[in-house]
Amino acid sequence: MQIDRLARLALVTLAIHLPTNVQAQEDRWRLDTSKPITYFIAEGSTVSGFQPGDEVLAKWAIEAWGEQADPPLTLVPGPEESATIRIYWVPAGTGLYGEMRGRRVQGQFAADLFVHPDTDYLGFEIAHKARSDPLFRATVIYLTCVHELGHAFGLPHTSDFEDIMYSFQFGGDFVAYFMRFREKLEALNNIPHVSPFSLRDMKRYQSLYSPGNRDETKAGGRSLPHE
Ligand SMILES: [Zn+2]
Repeated sequence: MQIDRLARLALVTLAIHLPTNVQAQEDRWRLDTSKPITYFIAEGSTVSGFQPGDEVLAKWAIEAWGEQADPPLTLVPGPEESATIRIYWVPAGTGLYGEMRGRRVQGQFAADLFVHPDTDYLGFEIAHKARSDPLFRATVIYLTCVHELGHAFGLPHTSDFEDIMYSFQFGGDFVAYFMRFREKLEALNNIPHVSPFSLRDMKRYQSLYSPGNRDETKAGGRSLPHE
């Protein structure tokens, strides 16, 4: 049945995978925010479902994380070889929205994000809506980037539908999840002016990165991206 197929699909959506060696060697995943974080956004190919402008959505997602931080983070473009955060566009086909893979650059945590921009592979409802509404498609790509970037910053999944770090493994109405953001847009360039975060998302980030909690093991500090 279609619903069963969608339900199974839902179980693997927004899942991420970390190499086991990263999980084993460090249980406190944080990016080094003491200096500007460099990022690299790869060019996309049409094979992946990438559309011109998707790179701007990724850039806005990066800037959103920077702006919600207190004090704001500085994120700057950097070369692919040394960038702390790298975003790649890859074909879907598995129902995944995206995934984050941790790595090390000169001893520091770094993250590669693989975003699947072909919304035709994200189940009938998402695919249908994305085809008829370009702003809905942009919302899916944008929020996927924001979510995966959350993992890059070390935030784990939550079970709260309001959160950007909500995992679709907990079920729910995925179209409604994206529509909540989409409905606040009248045009594409509204996106940077609408927060994708819940209050709890920002608090979790703050608890991970505020100086007082930096070396403690409470809050999200011990939680690695998982699943
Ligand atoms: Zn996730």
